Amino acid sequence: MKHARLSGSNAHRWMRCPGSVNLEAKCPKGSSEFAREGTAAHALAAECLTKGVEPASLVGTTLELGERDGTYKVDADMAEHVAKYVGQVREWAEEGHLLVEQSVPIEHLTGEDDAESTADCIVISADGRHFRIADLKFGKGVEVLAESNEQLMIYALGALEIIRTMGWEPTEATLAICQPRVSAEPSEWRIAVKDLEAFGRRVLEAAKAVDLPDAPLAAGDKQCKFCNAKSICPALARKALETIAGELPDLTEPLEPQLAGAKDRELDNEEIGNCMAAIDLIEDWCRAIRAKVETELFAGRQVPGWKLVAGRRGNRKWRDETEADKALEEAGLKESDRFTRELISPSQALKKLDRARKAEIEALTIQAEGKPNVVPLNDKRPPLPLAALPTEFAVLGD
Ligand code: SF4
Repeated sequence: MKHARLSGSNAHRWMRCPGSVNLEAKCPKGSSEFAREGTAAHALAAECLTKGVEPASLVGTTLELGERDGTYKVDADMAEHVAKYVGQVREWAEEGHLLVEQSVPIEHLTGEDDAESTADCIVISADGRHFRIADLKFGKGVEVLAESNEQLMIYALGALEIIRTMGWEPTEATLAICQPRVSAEPSEWRIAVKDLEAFGRRVLEAAKAVDLPDAPLAAGDKQCKFCNAKSICPALARKALETIAGELPDLTEPLEPQLAGAKDRELDNEEIGNCMAAIDLIEDWCRAIRAKVETELFAGRQVPGWKLVAGRRGNRKWRDETEADKALEEAGLKESDRFTRELISPSQALKKLDRARKAEIEALTIQAEGKPNVVPLNDKRPPLPLAALPTEFAVLGD
């Protein structure tokens, strides 16, 4: 399959920030262990759905993931989570016709010659009036929802082309995201085909903006979060620094003196709320800048004002535990003084037990109530009554 420059999976970024495509091209991304794990989970799911086998039966087998990702040995944890997705897809497939890992054209949406994406699963209803498009997300860090999900809407529009060549004319689609390590139930969203097609016209407009010679950069939470160009992006730097300083500092001059007054700014609660909303983005930017400086210095390139030095030494460890134990015994330490003994935690224990014993052991555990968290107003959880609030808080972003 031809690699699409404007991919469905990055549509949330290039549709909001057209300049990100060219900027990210300057920051090649290596394969991460998380990405390899996700690829392996997809390969396992496809194998099970196409061959009618259970993920558990493939524990211990090695999957070939291609040149970039090498091989991956299936473990019980992956099999357990993939089984939830496979079971759900099989249930949906009872509604009609199932297509697995189906290439779908997106050239008509992005204008890129022969561009395609891969839909994890498409189920077309028996009468062809409805189709479902589902995506397996194996990550557990950020929950992904189906509603208005640009990636799935693009895949759905690609799927529509295929379904029409099969002679059906659907009027509705359901987008579904299965994220088994985050939620037991899939996130689903129904949309009329005419609304999907209206979205498709917006995609085409956004794709044209990417090719403008001065394609604009537009920073924001959604598009910047996983953008590879964070460390070199002037738009993100401006947004972060403007939020901190209250006005845009001169980026060509040393920033420290210009930001010195920022900590003395007296903010009202509305301004504090606005700052809070920008914190995740600013923290992501800070991490990206730190990582970039380190990468440059390790590569032997100068970053004015910064250098590499030896870090603090690690904790001491025994070179040879048997030898150390013998020496300590000879030095007069009793066994109870030389060794610590600790019961494994409930989580460690539950992982080692079969289902039948889990309930019995679970009953022996206690769990402290969670501390109140500060979250955005659109969080799904109900707010705590103000009067009942203790004074200590943990603070979470959205
Ligand atoms: S960091 Fe944000 S603003 Fe900059 S290119 Fe990436 S998405 Fe666009």
